Amino acid sequence: MTAISLGQRFAEITVPRYTSYPTAADFTDKVGAKEQATWLAQLDPAEPISVYLHVPYCRQLCHYCGCHAKAVRKDGPVEEYRQALEAEIALVAARLPGRMTVGRIAWGGGTPSILGEHGLKSVVEVLKDHFDFATDFEHSIELDPRMLDASLARALARLGVNRASLGVQDLHPMVQQAIGRVQPEQQVAQAVYDLREAGISRINFDLIYGLPNQTEEGLLATCRSVAALSPDRIAFYGYAHLPTRRANQRLIDESLLPDSHARMRLAETIATFFPGEGYEPIGIDHFAKPNDPLAVAGRSGGLHRNFQGYTDDGYRTLLGFGCSSISRLPSGYVQSVSGIEAYKELTMAGQLPALRGHEMAEDDDERGWIIERLMCDFEVNIESQSRKYVDEIALLRPLVQEGLVAVSGSHIRLSNRGRPFVRLVAATFDSYRQDDVGIFSPSV
Ligand code: SF4
Repeated sequence: MTAISLGQRFAEITVPRYTSYPTAADFTDKVGAKEQATWLAQLDPAEPISVYLHVPYCRQLCHYCGCHAKAVRKDGPVEEYRQALEAEIALVAARLPGRMTVGRIAWGGGTPSILGEHGLKSVVEVLKDHFDFATDFEHSIELDPRMLDASLARALARLGVNRASLGVQDLHPMVQQAIGRVQPEQQVAQAVYDLREAGISRINFDLIYGLPNQTEEGLLATCRSVAALSPDRIAFYGYAHLPTRRANQRLIDESLLPDSHARMRLAETIATFFPGEGYEPIGIDHFAKPNDPLAVAGRSGGLHRNFQGYTDDGYRTLLGFGCSSISRLPSGYVQSVSGIEAYKELTMAGQLPALRGHEMAEDDDERGWIIERLMCDFEVNIESQSRKYVDEIALLRPLVQEGLVAVSGSHIRLSNRGRPFVRLVAATFDSYRQDDVGIFSPSV
């Protein structure tokens, strides 16, 4: 089988994106609020932590959205949610072994800025009531260019936000119409200008390939416009069309979606364009300017995976606040209830909103480390455990025969041609992998 036919075959196979190991799909209800409380109490108060704040609301839903987002017109539910978020912060902080230091804050959603300046400030103040903030910490937020103006940009800067991630997706008008998210190029450029004027100079863009009406030529034009705006980081993701699970995706005209071959060409369009503009490739789906901390981490072996993709955040503990958010603790993962109303009820009643999770065993830590290194570095040396993984290494043989993977003793390395298949190599080491899943997105 040639590499091309292997590629086409593997494009049909579904494997996780490995933003965690085990993946959230493998969490169970054996972990709940009791385990979370125990694990929180076991944290080392001297070790800094990261914080993720999830806001699930948007003013309207984009057709392609795969997030836990809910459209809301009125401000009342948003205000109630803010109160619930603040209640959860206090509930978690009360179970910690002492006052801890936050090294990072990341807001995601949804559209976190829907809280408004007052709401965002209120949550940050509650965090400050319970945690110390590191002096050089990164404070990032996901933003919708359609919801940003100069006044909000200045308010974010006053709050200490120093990195903004803009959902750009594709700038072609026909694609924007087909995905129900019309944001002309000028609007995106204005958002970038407002952020920089406010002093928020670190800017990330998200792009998506595999969207309806997308062509290589049109996507190339988007890439050129993006390069002209000069973001520090670019992440690009494949659109996962799962209309049976996401009602909003039923608004996408399936006849306009690219097939698996066209998807691969679109992914290649992005992957080959940005290195020519001076960006360094990071893992499977990110680019960064050479002086950006993500690129520096990529060169020095300090790259990591978390629920938002690639990061230079090396903290062992991530506290996730908000419905559906996931906390990563040294002892295991805990995910909150995804229902917004259930989340509000539990937190306002003084209960941790944990729904499920996973307690880490030694084997999980080992396999998680192998998978993370493969996803970040495209190579791993499993020296101390190579005997244990004889079967896994044998499974790689077809890829080795095609020159996509090289195995030398305990060292596994993907060739440049093999890099698009890294999720499959990683999946070889995943002891929870279920082959019958239609729940994961296409692997390329
Ligand atoms: S703005 Fe983002 S989170 Fe909200 S519906 Fe659109 S894609 Fe989903």
